[in-house]
Amino acid sequence: MSSQIRHTTAELQAMDAAHYLHPFTDHKDLGARGARIIERAQGVYLWDSEGNQILDGMAGLWCVNIGYGRTELAEVAYKQMLELPYYNSFFQCANPPAVQLAKAIAEIAPAHMNHVFFTGSGSESNDTVLRMVRRYWDLKGKPGKKTIISRINGYHGSTVAGASLGGMSVMHEQGDLPIPGIVHIPQPYWYGEGGDMDPEEFGLWAARQLEAKIEELGEDKVAAFIAEPIQGAGGVIIPPSTYWPEIKRILAKYDILLVVDEVICGFGRTGEWFGSQYFDLKPDLMPIAKGMTSGYLPMGGVIVGDRVANTLIEHGGEFFHGYTYSGHPVAAAVGLENLRILREEKIVDYVKQEAAPYLQSKIASLAEHRLVGEVRGVGLLGAIELVKNKATRERFAEKGSTGTLCRDLCVRNGLVMRAVGDTLIMSPPLVIKPEEIDELVAKAWRCLDLAAEQLGV
Ligand SMILES: *Cc1c(COP(=O)(O)O)cnc(C)c1O
Repeated sequence: MSSQIRHTTAELQAMDAAHYLHPFTDHKDLGARGARIIERAQGVYLWDSEGNQILDGMAGLWCVNIGYGRTELAEVAYKQMLELPYYNSFFQCANPPAVQLAKAIAEIAPAHMNHVFFTGSGSESNDTVLRMVRRYWDLKGKPGKKTIISRINGYHGSTVAGASLGGMSVMHEQGDLPIPGIVHIPQPYWYGEGGDMDPEEFGLWAARQLEAKIEELGEDKVAAFIAEPIQGAGGVIIPPSTYWPEIKRILAKYDILLVVDEVICGFGRTGEWFGSQYFDLKPDLMPIAKGMTSGYLPMGGVIVGDRVANTLIEHGGEFFHGYTYSGHPVAAAVGLENLRILREEKIVDYVKQEAAPYLQSKIASLAEHRLVGEVRGVGLLGAIELVKNKATRERFAEKGSTGTLCRDLCVRNGLVMRAVGDTLIMSPPLVIKPEEIDELVAKAWRCLDLAAEQLGV
């Protein structure tokens, strides 16, 4: 309003190139191309500054679960800003929305998880995980249990701890990461790495890498295992059906904590409140963010199971950790309203009963396209693997170029999908309607056709 003036697209792009360093971006390339300016949004649609309408197949960045334009969230934020825009939760203080949100989250979380530590983002949540896991073992009198086992190609954020816990080699290379005390095992990515094994066999093999790593390091050194239920940023990698049951068997054998990163799967994406419920897992800690406020304001947290929470509480002594914005009243009020809408409108049920079965049956048909090697999905997550040769899974020459080509064609034709290498991924708002799913899939077909034409196949 008062502090914003209307600028033309060209003016905004010039200012952007001159002053704005974007996240995960080749700044030279962006400066030359000019950023796409997204101006407004409603439901599942975005509009850019040129007036193009785009179906948002990614829900922003896996977060706008209830869709754009929900005025209720704006109204509670406005009211809360007038009432109490900020106060910290240090020094034995709390504020009503943060307390109510902690209780509301405990109600939807698995029964043994009853506490929440608030943060400002998913990355901060995973920094908290690292600190809290080590604090727990210190209090248990086992300070030697420090190492966290994570997975190659997992994603846990971009702070130093988040990027270290994650298994993205390009991030590790640029940051001299991981920091000490974090080790990685192979991911359960059957299509990409399963070789001659069938999915079930490969799932067991991948899970047993955890057992092998625990044995190699010694149980007395291992603090926790961290994983996403379904890897999101890694390419919507859905473990074979044998994977999680075998991980559970292994975890039952050893005294280590399980951290399930619910930043994407949490708040309904799989058709259950949490991915842990979808896969029947019993985590000790669940980092959350993204769908927690449907992205309307930044907020994250760690849902803490009784085992860890009770140890922190009963032992006492200050845990020297927290953030200025932990339990921010305005973000918490928005989170609470987001949760009210999810519950009252039965959106998670809608995903499970209607949207997910419909989306999955529709995208399955994309597997018939000549560029597509595999289509997979769970809930409102989907992935399309692009290949040169379906039978051998051979990829096109330059890794990632086909994915980028398709992604750019999609956006130009009114659909946001993301490319991870040569895999197209989707994660639309949970409120997407059947006719909007039809539109999404029709546009995806068209983009694959255009890409095949350009590739001359
Ligand atoms: C996005 C993401 C994060 C990081 O969240 P930020 O809010 O970007 O810091 C962590 N874990 C997973 C699984 C994510 O998808």
